[in-house]
Formats: sequence, structure tokens, C-alpha cells
Amino acid sequence: MNEITLHNKTFEIFISDQEIKKILDDIASKINTSEIKNPLFIAVLNGSFLFAADLMRKITIPNSEISFIKLASYEGTESTGKVNELIGLNQDVKGRNLIIIEDIVDTGNTLEKIVELFNEEGVQSLKIATLLYKEEAYTKNIVIDFIGKNIPNKFVVGYGLDYDEIGRNLPNIYKLKN
Ligand code: 5GP
Repeated sequence: MNEITLHNKTFEIFISDQEIKKILDDIASKINTSEIKNPLFIAVLNGSFLFAADLMRKITIPNSEISFIKLASYEGTESTGKVNELIGLNQDVKGRNLIIIEDIVDTGNTLEKIVELFNEEGVQSLKIATLLYKEEAYTKNIVIDFIGKNIPNKFVVGYGLDYDEIGRNLPNIYKLKN
């Protein structure tokens, strides 16, 4: 399938499942050779569910744990404006070595909020692993420790990533056709 249609938009193949496998091997080996002790992986749902599952099968660091969160944003009742909250965190992360698993980092706004919220919890260390990274769109200074693939500033779907909630099940990654 070189082209697919989702909600009347056409997408063309961009990263095949074979290439995704190579990216996974590469990123897993970088994480495995890092000196991170007893890591607690935190997968950011929904988009990272396939990446997190495939990545974890390749992690060989002893005592690795995984947990799943969602980031929720809502309007606060006070003048502070938007309030961000981590949903689903049912584990004490104080003093832990965290590795955040993201599907894609675009502007970095989401990542910045996640990092802020975890730092308030008193973590020991925090590393970031992302499958895809849009370097041209990134506006933050937070270092991304493990990057699967740097991609142009184009909208992509598949392998966990959606277009208006569909397309997450696709084994390949597709980009919007111009
Ligand atoms: P950021 O906060 O870095 O601008 O965006 C992060 C979030 O936006 C990602 O976790 C993802 O949900 C969504 N996003 C950004 N770029 C894309 C893209 O190309 N495709 C899809 N499906 N989602 C994206």
C-alpha cells in the first residue's frame, strides 16, 4: 500500500515497517548501552502505544519498569489559564530514573509540560526517547536524549499516530500528500 486515504485526505508511504524495525533496534541499543539504572519508562498515550510495546521488547536493562500516562490540559478556574495534569500516574516517581517514551516531538510544547510536571515530583533523572522528531518545528531547549528519526515538518500517520483518531493501526508510517 503506497497510498492510503483517511477522512478524504491522501497519504503516501514515508517510513516502512522494515525501516521502523531498524529504527527500533538502533534506539533500543542506545538506551541499553546508557548507564541508566532501574529505569522507569513512561509511555505517553495514545500515540506511543505501539512504539512503547515494540521498544520494551528490546530493552535489556535489569529491573526496567513501564507505566503509561496521558497529558490533560484544561482551563483553570483562576487567572493562571491552562492547567496541565498527568493522568494515570499511579506510581511514586520520586527519586526514580525516568525515560519518557513519546511518539513524536513537534513544537515541544507537550514535552515541556510533561518535563515540568515530572520535575515537580522530584525525579532523580529524566531522559526522553522519541520515535520521530520534527527538528524544524522544535522551539524548546530541552535535550532529547534518544531520537528514532528526524523528519521534515510534515503531518504523519500510522504506527500509533492518528489522523482524527484513525490510522493508528497502520504498520507503516505515511505522510500527507501535497
Ligand atoms: P508538540 O506539543 O510537540 O507540538 O506536539 C506533540 C503532539 O502533537 C504529539 O504527541 C502528537 O500527538 C501531535 N502531533 C504532532 N505532529 C504530529 C504528526 O505529524 N502526526 C500526528 N498524527 N500527530 C502529531
